[in-house]
Amino acid sequence: MLSFMQNNTSENENARQDFLKLGTLAVAATACGSAMCSCGKNKSEDSGKMVKLLSPEGEIVEVDESYLREPADIPCVDEKDARHGIPNRKFVMVVDLARCKNARKCKEACNKNHHTGHQKEYLKVLKMQDNPVSSPYWQPTMCFHCDDPPCVKVCPVDATFKRDDGLVLIDNDRCIGCRVCMAACPYSQRVFNWGEPETWDESISSCSSPEIGGVNAKKGTVEKCDFCPDQVRQGEMPHCVTACPNGVFYFGDENEDAVSNGEETLKLSELLTTRAGYRALEELGTKPRVYYLPPVNRLFPFEDMKSDNPEENTVN
Ligand code: SF4
Repeated sequence: MLSFMQNNTSENENARQDFLKLGTLAVAATACGSAMCSCGKNKSEDSGKMVKLLSPEGEIVEVDESYLREPADIPCVDEKDARHGIPNRKFVMVVDLARCKNARKCKEACNKNHHTGHQKEYLKVLKMQDNPVSSPYWQPTMCFHCDDPPCVKVCPVDATFKRDDGLVLIDNDRCIGCRVCMAACPYSQRVFNWGEPETWDESISSCSSPEIGGVNAKKGTVEKCDFCPDQVRQGEMPHCVTACPNGVFYFGDENEDAVSNGEETLKLSELLTTRAGYRALEELGTKPRVYYLPPVNRLFPFEDMKSDNPEENTVN
C-alpha cells in the first residue's frame, strides 16, 4: 500500500503524487473487474507479469500487466462497494479561512463536475462577520460528512448513508424525495431537485452509482456535496481542492494523519493543534469531518464581491 504521508517535507509534491498513485491502483482493480482495461503498448515493453481480466464477451483472458491502461471514464462502482467506501481510509478536509479571497473557482469546478446547473449548488462561499467590529471574511461551506449525521438517521429508505471511509452519500435511485434529511441537517447543506436536472453527461449516464453524485441526479430527489468519491477512488483530490488557486482546501486521510492542498502536505494533527482548527457547531455532537482554520494572519485583505447567489452576499 502506498503511503500518502511523506516524512520529508521537501517531497510534498511527491506525497500528492503518491496519493494519486494509490487511486490509480484502485482504479486498475475496479476497471479490470468491469473489463474496462485496454491495451496500447509495444510488445517490447512487456513486463512479463500476466494479469487476468474479464473480456467484454465474459471470458477470462490473460494479458501482460504493462498493457493495462487507465480507463477514460469514471469507474462504475457497484452498490456494495459504493456503500462501503474505500478500505482503510478516513477522509477529512481542512478549510483555511486565512487563505480564502472568494475566488469562487471551487464553486465553478464543483458545479461543472457535478452537473448542478444553475438552480442548486453543493458548495457556497458565505460572507461571514463574527461581530460588528471585526472584519468580515469568506467561508466556503459544504456537506461536512458528519461522523454522527442526523440526516442519515432520519432517512426512512436508507437512501443516504455513512461509509466506513467517512463519506456521507446519497443513492438517488433510492431517494423518495421526502426531504426529511434536509430538515435534519443542522447546516442546511442539502439541496432538492425541484425540476429535471439541467445537464446530463451522456458518456457516463449508463453508470448508476451513488459515487457519481450529480450525474445521476433525478427530479424529486436530494443532493449535496459528496467529496467527489469518483475522484477520490482514482486517487485524485476533490474538484474544489484542485481548482482553488489559493490552497484553501486541504484534503487527506485521518488514518495517515496527513492532508494536502496540492501544494503542500501537512500533518493533520499538527495543523489542527497549531492553527486552532475547529468544527461547525461542535456542541451539536454531529462530529463533522470538515475542520476550519480561523481567518487570522490572512493571506489577503477582505474584499467585498457580489455573488450571483444572494445567500452568499448576506453577512452570516
Ligand atoms: Fe448530513 Fe448535514 Fe452533516 Fe452533511 S452536514 S452529513 S448533510 S447533517
